[in-house]
Amino acid sequence: MQTTDIDGLNSALRTYLNQEQTNHVNRAYFFAEQAHYGQRRRSGEPYVTHPLAVAGILADMHMDHQSLMAAMLHDVIEDTGIAKSAIGEQFGATVANLVDGVSKLTQMEFESLEEKQAENFQKMALAMARDIRVILVKLADRLHNMRTLGVLNSNKARRIARETLDIYSPIAMRLGMNNVRMEFEDLGFRVLYPMRANRIDAALHEASGHRKELVEKVRSQIQATLEQEGHEVMVVGREKHPYSIYKKMKSKRKSFSEIMDIYAFRIIVDSVDTCYRVLGCIHSLYKPVPGEFKDYIAIPKANGYQSLHTVLMGMHGVPIEVQIRTREMEDMANNGIAAHWLYKSNGQSDRGSHARAREWVQGLLEMQQRAGNSLEFIESVKIDLFPDEVYVFTPKGKILELPRRATAVDFAYAVHTDVGNSCVACRINRRVAPLSEPLQSGQTVEILTSPVARPNPAWLDYAVTAKARSAIHHFLKNQTKEDSVALGRSLLDKALTGFDSNLELLPEEQLNHFLAQHTYEKLEDLLVEIARGNRLPTFIAQQLMSEPGEARLQSDDTAEQPNDGQPVAIRGTEGFMVSYARCCHPIPGDSIVGYLSLEKGVVVHRDQCNNLKDMRDHSERRIALRWDEEVEGEYPAELRIEVENRRGMIAVIATRINSIGVNIEKISTDHKDYQFTYVNLEMLVQSRVHLANIMKRLRAIHHVRKVTRVKN
Ligand code: MN
Repeated sequence: MQTTDIDGLNSALRTYLNQEQTNHVNRAYFFAEQAHYGQRRRSGEPYVTHPLAVAGILADMHMDHQSLMAAMLHDVIEDTGIAKSAIGEQFGATVANLVDGVSKLTQMEFESLEEKQAENFQKMALAMARDIRVILVKLADRLHNMRTLGVLNSNKARRIARETLDIYSPIAMRLGMNNVRMEFEDLGFRVLYPMRANRIDAALHEASGHRKELVEKVRSQIQATLEQEGHEVMVVGREKHPYSIYKKMKSKRKSFSEIMDIYAFRIIVDSVDTCYRVLGCIHSLYKPVPGEFKDYIAIPKANGYQSLHTVLMGMHGVPIEVQIRTREMEDMANNGIAAHWLYKSNGQSDRGSHARAREWVQGLLEMQQRAGNSLEFIESVKIDLFPDEVYVFTPKGKILELPRRATAVDFAYAVHTDVGNSCVACRINRRVAPLSEPLQSGQTVEILTSPVARPNPAWLDYAVTAKARSAIHHFLKNQTKEDSVALGRSLLDKALTGFDSNLELLPEEQLNHFLAQHTYEKLEDLLVEIARGNRLPTFIAQQLMSEPGEARLQSDDTAEQPNDGQPVAIRGTEGFMVSYARCCHPIPGDSIVGYLSLEKGVVVHRDQCNNLKDMRDHSERRIALRWDEEVEGEYPAELRIEVENRRGMIAVIATRINSIGVNIEKISTDHKDYQFTYVNLEMLVQSRVHLANIMKRLRAIHHVRKVTRVKN
């Protein structure tokens, strides 16, 4: 049915909606008519004829009144100055969200799509539409545009037809909406291949004459046999569609007449039970072709399609394809997910659309259980409707497919390893966002890079793709070596100053002699060993200084005792071979001491740290440290806050800390007694002064009794 005016639509609506629902749809129509006032379609008709026709398509599927309202309003946000909020005020949030969802899909139309992109786009469209009705309205919109494509110039028509075949017809297929899919295909086929379509049309016309007679003969024979057996059935001859004929000719390399020589019927019955009985009758009427029987009732297709399929040998050896299904299965086969509303919508208030989509899946599940067989297909339906992937855009509009929970770091590495390695920050939909934020379908992600940036080991906490993780690991391994060389150099240099020397002053042959004697190929190898804590810098310095050589400062027989030298300055930029002890969390401003730990390099402790006292026995591994005046970075610090037991205290504290611009890394609570609770906080601070400031602000919060820094 093609709806051309609101009265026509109303008489269709009255067959399945109540008066109030019909009134709502009418209000939306008049709103759209006002909003599009003065706008015309290319055909010259008033613009409102388009949303009206879209609503009509959905009414044919017996879609609910909210979908029809959204159909009426679907171009209002896009084409007129009216905001989503205005629609929300007039028609409620659900309808406004539907309209907004359709507008967003409409905005994402592309010039050309490669095959892979197209597939991603289909999945993305499904993933994005939190309310599956968004897709149904969009499909109806596209269907009407396809029906009226003729008036567009042919380049644009071809683009739209291509997009319809690439994206919208597979979506319709996924959702089991066969009628829509076939119409998309036939309309698209005619636009893209007008010559071939015409030839098939002509052949169909020519074949129809004598064919009709034969088809009717077989049809009435089947009908009569089944009625004799007491089955109330409807037997219909199936029309072949030009596009499916074309596809078969192409994929099976068959001629037109080979394809047309198959007679196809559909038998609609009242119950599942009858399906199998009818099958029995048919098989005794004509001989079945072995291997052609398929039971899609017991094992439905992934999109929920159910039917029995069989092929018989008719008179003169003509093959006859037969499909047997119930009325409900027939509706499902034609309208797929939309048929759900036909069976479930009446008299029910609007609930979450997700719940409805789930209900649809649930409905399939029940059918499946009735049929009593494998449940695998349910999984595939779920995956189609609620994918485990996210689809996001690069700023240039390319679509990337990532696993669920992927973050901007994964995105950056998916673009290119170099982008990942030099990534510093990201914008998600133009908003600056943390790199750790999980991405969602439809977002546009932009990665900000810096030539001096490098991967952070913390990324491994939230990078999920194998590509990102292995690239980060690889980089860290190489980088660790460079860092080790630098740290080893400064440790050895410092130790040498204790002997009034340094690496610059040390004569080359003296150094080389030492390296050769200790089987080091080059200086770097020695430096790495020092940085890793495997060789102690003071001992190496001592040995180096006692090597034979001109610049040697030989004194007595006794081994030289180094002077204390200057503490090594820590800038916070040393990299992986300098780490900060988790036991005492040193921050700039604290007095610090280093411990040269095996394989881990220098671990910085606060000088009162208890763990450090336990390491007394290895005093040769202690290294005097100080903070550089220009220390950089942020360091974890832990606070313990004693608060009164009141609801919402954690939120108050977290909000206060966020408002100072400090990131909370960890938060936990310990119950103290009936009156007080301890809140433990770990956050990143720049220095003692910074931390003192934060503590002062926290103490000012009402119901906070005590704030202390955790020592060990
Ligand atoms: Mn439209």
